Amino acid sequence: MNPVFDGLWHGAAPKYKGTAIDWMRENVRLPHSARSTYFDPSLAPWLNDIIKAVQNDDIQQIVICAPTGGAKTTFLELTIPYIIAQQPGPALLVSQNDDEAKDWADSRLTAILDNCEPVRSLYPADRHLKRKTSIIFPHMPVFICGANMSSLQAKSMRYCIGDETWQWKPGMIGEMKKRHHDRWNRKTILVTQGWDQGHDMDREYSAGALYEWGYTCEKCSSWHKWQWSDLIYEESKFDDGGWNWDAISQSIYHVCPTCGHRSPNTVASRRALSDRSSYKKQETNCIAKHVTFHWPAWAVHWVEWGDIVREWIEANELKKRGDTNALKQWTQKRAAQIWKQESDLPSVQLMAGNYQKSDYSEGQLIDNEVVRFITVDRQRDHFWMVARAWRADGSSRLLWEGKVLTEETIRGIQHQLKVGDKLVFQDAHYEPGPVYDTCAKWGWTALHGSGNDGFLHYKAGAKRPIKKFFSPYKVAKAPSGGNAAYINWANEGVKDCLSQLRARGAPYWEFPTDVSEHWLFQMNSEVKREKLHKETKKMKLQWVKLRANHLWDCEAMQVAAAMMVGVLRVDANQEEKLTT
Ligand SMILES: [Zn+2]
Repeated sequence: MNPVFDGLWHGAAPKYKGTAIDWMRENVRLPHSARSTYFDPSLAPWLNDIIKAVQNDDIQQIVICAPTGGAKTTFLELTIPYIIAQQPGPALLVSQNDDEAKDWADSRLTAILDNCEPVRSLYPADRHLKRKTSIIFPHMPVFICGANMSSLQAKSMRYCIGDETWQWKPGMIGEMKKRHHDRWNRKTILVTQGWDQGHDMDREYSAGALYEWGYTCEKCSSWHKWQWSDLIYEESKFDDGGWNWDAISQSIYHVCPTCGHRSPNTVASRRALSDRSSYKKQETNCIAKHVTFHWPAWAVHWVEWGDIVREWIEANELKKRGDTNALKQWTQKRAAQIWKQESDLPSVQLMAGNYQKSDYSEGQLIDNEVVRFITVDRQRDHFWMVARAWRADGSSRLLWEGKVLTEETIRGIQHQLKVGDKLVFQDAHYEPGPVYDTCAKWGWTALHGSGNDGFLHYKAGAKRPIKKFFSPYKVAKAPSGGNAAYINWANEGVKDCLSQLRARGAPYWEFPTDVSEHWLFQMNSEVKREKLHKETKKMKLQWVKLRANHLWDCEAMQVAAAMMVGVLRVDANQEEKLTT
């Protein structure tokens, strides 16, 4: 398509004098709308500034991140006829896949265009030029397709409009945007609900100046974005423990965080808040000519707050049982927010054993104890440390955990808890030099976490070596001159074993009732995810750190140590299987 068309058209057509919003009100009918077939700009006021951005030649990209049922589709159904009739240029309308694109054209778009007189008068005379998935108007083509390579290639477009982009495969947004061929008047429009962190939409969303939808308080005139925390409700339950949804729904009100002014949960009150709403540009780093708009479902006055509160309560109930899916749906579809990786955490509910740290503070043995270790994670100016006692069956009790500031303190606790010198293990990853020095001085053992899947052990007389999750003892020269013993351990295999112990919990893998918040928090610091293996280029499940994980690392080193002394026995053949 020749870009000259744009100019020719503007010269020839009688230009509409009003705004885009006026034009839409006069010319577009919305046969599918549940509220009004006529476009009423006061009905979904959050669309108005976006429509102005469509009309504004200075804006090259519009991202709309909005809840389901929040008039996203209405926006597209208003914008497409307007573009065709008033602001023409080759346009590409892209859905998640070809079938969805066809369905949308079939079930909605055709009716919108047929019902718009200025568009209908431009329909091509040749009926072969008007198909479901493409309309070749005399002044511009419109293509409707799925987000895949074959559809997105070899077309040159002024408008690239992507719908439900949260579902698109990696790279497809970029592929679509290449169709602009850097036209000066190009416009990308991406419409979506919230997505999973790491999706291409992360970059598109933060590229734009962020316009957050908010309301101006009736009483104190302060502006606040529509935050979930400003909806207040009482958690009422029946005597049998079931939720009393009616009572909860009736208890909901909206509160202004500045002055405490309350708005009740009624249709009229929600509409009044909507009428007092407006966008405010947030302080973000953004690219020139890019804008992003966001509003949540509770800002949409026709959405009953009771429904959203109910979904929220139910989703959180499920989360407590380890199922985060409903909360993810709520976050993405209702809050129109990104689902972050942390929220994906299994949030393992850990049950404490029936004892306290003080029960073992003088070095008392646990029942049937065979060995105890101290493991230390060294940071720049402090240490994290765990002491755990093990039985022959692989069960264990946490004796001590926490942060310490000096090596001398660790030495003191070691003596108090009566742990042998060789059985104090220090992670040498951060600063091998000083670690080797202390190991040489006090007879401690240094540890190196490794990405290897295992280490070969050769036994005299054995036909072939055995692979284990730790290496044989080795000796390194410490900077101070002494000898330091060290061992490598396989990060993935050991952490798999730790996560199994964590899942099994008490009384097999125990911790005291007075365990620290740090420990509980850090026990959920890593999760297993698919990652691209650098060498093999294959996707592989790997432990990924989500937050501070020092105590989790200390517990992993405990597992490695327990494997070394044979308390935790992972059968050699089984290990072989695990690691190949
Ligand atoms: Zn107020």
